[in-house]
Amino acid sequence: MSLKPSPTHANVPIDPTVLEWTHRLTQLGPRFFTHLQPTPVAAPRWAARNQDLRDALGWPTEVFDDVHLQALAGNALMVGSQPLATVYSGHQFGQWAGQLGDGRAIWLGEAASLQGPQEIQLKGAGRTPYSRGGDGRAVLRSSIREYLCSEAMHGLGIPTTRALSLVASPEPVRRETLETAAVVARVAPSFLRFGHFEHFAAQGDADSLRLLADHALTHHLPECRERAALWQGNVYAALLDVVQERTGQLLAQWQAVGFCHGVMNTDNMSLLGLTIDYGPFQFMDGFDPGHICNHSDHEGRYAYGRQPQVAYWNLYALAQALAPLIDDQDMTLQVLEGYKTGFPRALGDAMRAKLGWVGALAIESEREADWSLVEDLMQLMAAEKVDYTLFWRQLSHAVVQQSHGPNLSDTGWCAVTDLVLDRPRLLAWLQRFTNRSDPSHFAAMGQQMLKSNPKFVLRNHLAEVAIRKAQTGDFSEIETLYTLLKSPFEDHPGFEAYANLPPDWASQLEISCSS
Ligand code: AMP
Ligand code: MG
Repeated sequence: MSLKPSPTHANVPIDPTVLEWTHRLTQLGPRFFTHLQPTPVAAPRWAARNQDLRDALGWPTEVFDDVHLQALAGNALMVGSQPLATVYSGHQFGQWAGQLGDGRAIWLGEAASLQGPQEIQLKGAGRTPYSRGGDGRAVLRSSIREYLCSEAMHGLGIPTTRALSLVASPEPVRRETLETAAVVARVAPSFLRFGHFEHFAAQGDADSLRLLADHALTHHLPECRERAALWQGNVYAALLDVVQERTGQLLAQWQAVGFCHGVMNTDNMSLLGLTIDYGPFQFMDGFDPGHICNHSDHEGRYAYGRQPQVAYWNLYALAQALAPLIDDQDMTLQVLEGYKTGFPRALGDAMRAKLGWVGALAIESEREADWSLVEDLMQLMAAEKVDYTLFWRQLSHAVVQQSHGPNLSDTGWCAVTDLVLDRPRLLAWLQRFTNRSDPSHFAAMGQQMLKSNPKFVLRNHLAEVAIRKAQTGDFSEIETLYTLLKSPFEDHPGFEAYANLPPDWASQLEISCSS
């Protein structure tokens, strides 16, 4: 394919000392990627700049100056950047989809930071050899969602790719309707996906597969070398083991916070166990295990309650890709078994934290009894379709108020019991819950609950308001949401409306794959 050359691409001399580039990925060689330039967008404008992330990475203020606006829009190149798009394959909705690849995310390179080397990608920066008929662009609507949700996840303590900046352009982009373009600069230690490994396995290219696995082991998951001791020195078995463990922990956190990813294809699964590729995701409003957030997912393959099983299915696909390297089928299957115990354990821990039971209060011998308490609560919540975030937050506040010892006739519980129709059922559950702990522990439990149950999540309707404003050129709501979501466990007085039930119009919102 041909990319329009642009005069702005004559390596605009942006101070080479601003970022210190390394290029460990490029050492893999041309079978893994294609070097290419981003395609410029018209009239780029900052829609959001993440100063907190820039500070945390130790990157200089110049990164957000006018010159770098051009660079983070894909209209100019920072000196030292060697842009490329990587190739991967994958399973989409349970079917082998063959070759995919970075169809619109252009990798600028890897820059040194206070948190170690970080890769930077521009999502929506134009066509690549892997665009498969797509336009290489991302619309402002989905880019705002990606920007805010990356940072919301980080605020919740959930592993994720990060969002450094959001650049808007008036350039038209056709989706179901005519929209406008945007470019998100996203940052992660690595953007490697399960699909990168599936690609070379499907090609029968064992040499490339090994190179890629060694790259991941050396640069991104060095703990695998130690883990290999558990697997007769087999570092590739250890690699799969570390990935299944991280994936299980990630899924536990998604489930605990009520996050639905929406498109858990194997090409959207991060090798590092990060949340990646924000599309039709949703933080559930009313609790429903069968909730489907992606309106293109007619079968409900990626429904909230199915996510943990889908992650296992995806790990199985990764295991098949790594099988030639592990070279021991029994061992490969045994590694995968780890997910079946690791995920429920991680979920149990996460749910117990939501009930205030961490540290000395997370009594090992109570694990099973605690889980049955959690399950009964989830069944009650599902029957009532109670608002997931609000319920947990109100429960946390109610427990804080019981710091002199729990008393179920206390009006402090009303904010919780008012959320359901079947009060006797909830009161019976609350009785069991309060019986579980020593009254002297309630203060500590309540404080823990406030740290485990967020007040603010990126509900669809909140994002929608920011999108509609931004589409008129007003980006202020992005900033407001960012401020709340980066510290979602804090109270943020004056912003109660952002923690309320969704308005009626929100139920009409349909979020599809189109982005
Ligand atoms: P997704 O469902 O967003 O994970 O995308 C699946 C594949 O389609 C990946 O290879 C993407 O890079 C590619 N893709 C999605 N949207 C576009 C687009 N507008 N232009 C080019 N490629 C795209
Ligand atoms: Mg994707």
